[in-house]
Amino acid sequence: MKKTVTALVWLIASSSGQSHDLTALPLGDGKLSQSPKLGWIWACHVDPQAGGAQRDGPWINAAKGTYDLTAKAVVPGQVSWPSQFSISVQQDQRVFTSNDLPNHATGTFPIPSSSDAYRYDRNPNSIGAQTMRVALPVWPQLAAQPSCVPGAIGFLQSGAVLFNALDAPGRDAVAHETQDACQGHPQESGVYHYHSLSSCLPDKREPGGHSALMGYLLDGFGIYGAYGENGKALVSQDLDECHGHTHVITWEGKQVSMYHYHATPDFPYTAGCLRGSYRQADVQTISGPRPQRGGGNTPGGRSGPPGMDAPPGAGNGMPQGNSNGPGPGPGGGRPDLNKAAAALGISAQKLHEALGPPPPDLRAAAAKLGISVEALQAALNAAR
Ligand SMILES: [Zn+2]
Ligand SMILES: [Zn+2]
Repeated sequence: MKKTVTALVWLIASSSGQSHDLTALPLGDGKLSQSPKLGWIWACHVDPQAGGAQRDGPWINAAKGTYDLTAKAVVPGQVSWPSQFSISVQQDQRVFTSNDLPNHATGTFPIPSSSDAYRYDRNPNSIGAQTMRVALPVWPQLAAQPSCVPGAIGFLQSGAVLFNALDAPGRDAVAHETQDACQGHPQESGVYHYHSLSSCLPDKREPGGHSALMGYLLDGFGIYGAYGENGKALVSQDLDECHGHTHVITWEGKQVSMYHYHATPDFPYTAGCLRGSYRQADVQTISGPRPQRGGGNTPGGRSGPPGMDAPPGAGNGMPQGNSNGPGPGPGGGRPDLNKAAAALGISAQKLHEALGPPPPDLRAAAAKLGISVEALQAALNAAR
């Protein structure tokens, strides 16, 4: 079995008595709360009926309630992408624009049937370019009350988005799903995402040992690596219910005492709740176009709420009907081109021209628009 040891060396806690043994990390399954709770996640949505990885890999020890991260199957491959993203400050807003293609290589998706990972999680999805733009406060404020965590929670400095710790049915996604060597994989509409920090983002520690800024959550607060003040290796118990704390950090070139999140090697890996307010529209944006299969023969036949991971069938080993096919899904009716164009961030006329007269050639249209077939397909399906 392919090991992830080298990629995860950065995670190994060195200076903390509480450091976690990566070969026996606690499974996060069931640690779902309805309010802020330390070491748990207060998720806005889960669907116990949704699909997930089809069976437990041998790295999961259900009896002990642990898993061996170093023995987990890794999706193989070294695929490079034309990553395009920027994170810039415009007045009081931090503007993130991205095609969600990461600035590092990814594994091969759909997961090759010859790979070890395929035996446990047949994620049939392909990575596709997205159109994302969100504007967050540069100087976020703590809300009066924390909020539940949406499925998609922020973005990392790789240009790709961060989802919460859970798979669609609400289990520990890091333990159950298979990811590539950078801890990412695509969901149904092609959105490449992580459920934990990516080891392909180097943690250039700050003077004093505190982790570097790794990205931003949708409330505008930063998320840092696994090291706190004086280089202390952090675990969930060192942080608050939302997986953050307040101390002096460098922010926009200033030394300020400010709230921020940390990633840790243990569940819930990143945010357990959000301390600032966020907009549902931003969740939708970084979740990508909503996958939908209208009335077809897809098992389950429902799609997850925004930001949720692979909906039914995806990754549970069932044949995936139309989730990756080049043609429109069965029984969906005509897509509303205005809606699809809006989801893609282009004009309806441009989309209309690219598609040409019926029947549309999706590959040619996607090439004309400079996006993936999957992204176009997803936008059209979502607009039915
Ligand atoms: Zn800190
Ligand atoms: Zn996922």
